[in-house]
Amino acid sequence: MKRSAMSPESESAYRASLAQAAEAGAKVLDRGGSPLDAVEAAIRILEDDPLFNAGRGAVFTSEGKNELDAAIMDGSNLKAGAVAGVTRTRHPISLARAIMEKSPHVMLIGAGADAFSVQVGLEQVDSSFFFTESRWQSLVNQLKKEGRPVPPRPAGAPPPGPVVPVAWIEESPDTRTYGTVGVVALDRLGNVAAGTSTGGLQGKMPGRVGDSPILGAGTYASNQSCAVSATGAGEYFIRLGVAREVCNLVAFKGMPLQQAADQVIHKELDALRGEGGIIALTPDGQLAWSFNTPGMLRARLREGGKLEIGVYNDEP
Ligand code: ASP
Repeated sequence: MKRSAMSPESESAYRASLAQAAEAGAKVLDRGGSPLDAVEAAIRILEDDPLFNAGRGAVFTSEGKNELDAAIMDGSNLKAGAVAGVTRTRHPISLARAIMEKSPHVMLIGAGADAFSVQVGLEQVDSSFFFTESRWQSLVNQLKKEGRPVPPRPAGAPPPGPVVPVAWIEESPDTRTYGTVGVVALDRLGNVAAGTSTGGLQGKMPGRVGDSPILGAGTYASNQSCAVSATGAGEYFIRLGVAREVCNLVAFKGMPLQQAADQVIHKELDALRGEGGIIALTPDGQLAWSFNTPGMLRARLREGGKLEIGVYNDEP
């Protein structure tokens, strides 16, 4: 993401959304809620926000469908839930949590996950709920450019209209964007949690699963080391086991969190020519983010502190 690719209106809309999500998470913790509750609350807001590639606003498969992935993990007991390729759940992060709390499994995919979502009473939506004009136009442009067939406009989508000005079409080849949302949270007792939710990669093959729902790749949390959520080209994050790798450097090499995060993103991910970034925190309150892209939308808030928001790589 580059300054030149983002209008000032777009940038302030993103900053406002990040502030809203961070404050919602903080409010949960202030009221004595768990880090897991804070993660879920903040992610639900971002899933409903069409600016981000998660829930409403998700990118499309090459066949013009939204297939959503999410994971959540509780660092206090290593319990986790994950979901991939769901199509009708308004809040995939809540489905991940339901899998963790109400099923004997850690991960469900596709039709079985959609069915479990209905069974546990989560809100179901028509797939057109996830549709946004800007993501659709971006898919059409991408497929045309790559000479791939363009699927018909999804049933139930609103008639073609102007692209909402704040939403941003990722089409210039050097400004690929990832819009996955992720949250890490810590309570006063030293418990951490992490969660990630995404539509995956624009134009992905149907059935493709990214790193976000893969524990240890795009999402991980342990009170013994750290909590991590990732965004970027998921295939690289899966191959490197990025989230767990960062935590292992903290746990077994005793690295400060920022150093561990930078080692994985700027050395190991760079070496594979992968791109993306992470947010992370430790049970003793170290906060880190690290990314090898021109920008990453990010926010952090400590108890009694000021909300910090960043977009580009020349900001702290
Ligand atoms: N990491 C996500 C994936 O590969 C994409 C993203 O970060 O936007 O599915």
